[in-house]
Amino acid sequence: MNFDTLFQAQIDTLKNDGNYRYFAELERKAGKFPKATNHLNGEQRDVTVWCSNDYLGMGQHPAVIAAMCEAVNRTGTGAGGTRNISGTNHDHLLLERELADLHGKEAALIFTSGYISNWATLATLGSRLENCVILSDAGNHASMIEGIRHSRAHKVIWKHNDVHDLEMKLRALPEEYPKIVAFESVYSMDGDIAPIEAIVEIAEKYGAMTYIDEVHAVGMYGPRGGGVTEELGLTNRITLIEGTLGKAFGCVGGYITGSKVLCDFIRSFASGFIFTTALPPAVAAAARTSIAHLKVSQSERAGQRCQVARLRAALDHHGIPYMANDSHIVPVIIGDPVKTKMLADYLMLEWDIYVQPINYPTVPKGTERLRFTPSPLHSDDDIDHLVNALKTLWKQCAIAHAVA
Ligand code: PLP
Repeated sequence: MNFDTLFQAQIDTLKNDGNYRYFAELERKAGKFPKATNHLNGEQRDVTVWCSNDYLGMGQHPAVIAAMCEAVNRTGTGAGGTRNISGTNHDHLLLERELADLHGKEAALIFTSGYISNWATLATLGSRLENCVILSDAGNHASMIEGIRHSRAHKVIWKHNDVHDLEMKLRALPEEYPKIVAFESVYSMDGDIAPIEAIVEIAEKYGAMTYIDEVHAVGMYGPRGGGVTEELGLTNRITLIEGTLGKAFGCVGGYITGSKVLCDFIRSFASGFIFTTALPPAVAAAARTSIAHLKVSQSERAGQRCQVARLRAALDHHGIPYMANDSHIVPVIIGDPVKTKMLADYLMLEWDIYVQPINYPTVPKGTERLRFTPSPLHSDDDIDHLVNALKTLWKQCAIAHAVA
């Protein structure tokens, strides 16, 4: 059997549907964020990155870089093993204490990515709690969906952000079953924010545990960067807060925080925690520095809010439509994968602007988009340049007017 033919046939389908993914070959430049070099067909061009999830530029913050370099020189490159077998380093525990403090919880547990933290934790909770039912928001991230699926627990999907639907579904379940309400704070593609307080109230009414993914909020919301739950003063009413070290904290890795016994339970039973090499201690040291910095510094959060508002005002001024939301994410819906890619290519080639076209399955078909993430390090000139480019494109493209 020729397996390559089978693989190629599926790739061809993706290409015919416009859903094939092309990656930009970027070289990030420490200290120059959001500028990077784009390597394209043997040529190098300086571009401005407009779609990074290093939301605050912390991945190139001098203190974070220094912490990582110091830890590499002190401890070496790798952790040396799984957390269980020789891989637990002092830097990991310092980071877990920092995270527990960030979210006002008793304990934290780190994983090799946010994806793995969701996958491993939900899979463990759902499989080990007898008769467990997981009530999952319809907009939840793939990592949560896969974790729930892997748990084989009974899954109930409630309509996105619809607390009435959640309550109806909770009410229908036997009282004695352990129930977990799993949802996100900031949904990263539309940028909408969950009605967290209402969800918590309903979960409390039905004795359900709450599991919130704050991946797109940690570092950016709340007076210490503890996420939307911190901003709303709801931290202590949420059972488990999950987050990433790879976005606003500028490193890599994921985590959960909660009670001591909850974290110990996941530590003891989660395959995705037990059977994989621990994060390099240098990554843990860098992440801890980034978190500690954002606990006290407001300038990054304030700068980001300012530039997000500036971009939205400029788009409004020129009649360029974007999805309104209360977060830092600015999605511009194009609604067709081929046209979205064409626009992104044009922005890259003609304007040195990098924004990745977002297509299915990251977003539903027909809602393909350009997703802009202004940071405190995008200058006013960067914003003017982007808006000029979009203005020119909007004039040229009939589809843009149709969308508008
Ligand atoms: N949760 C959400 C909502 C996400 O968007 C992502 C995306 O990356 C993840 C979890 C996974 O986090 P990480 O990138 O750290 O694996």
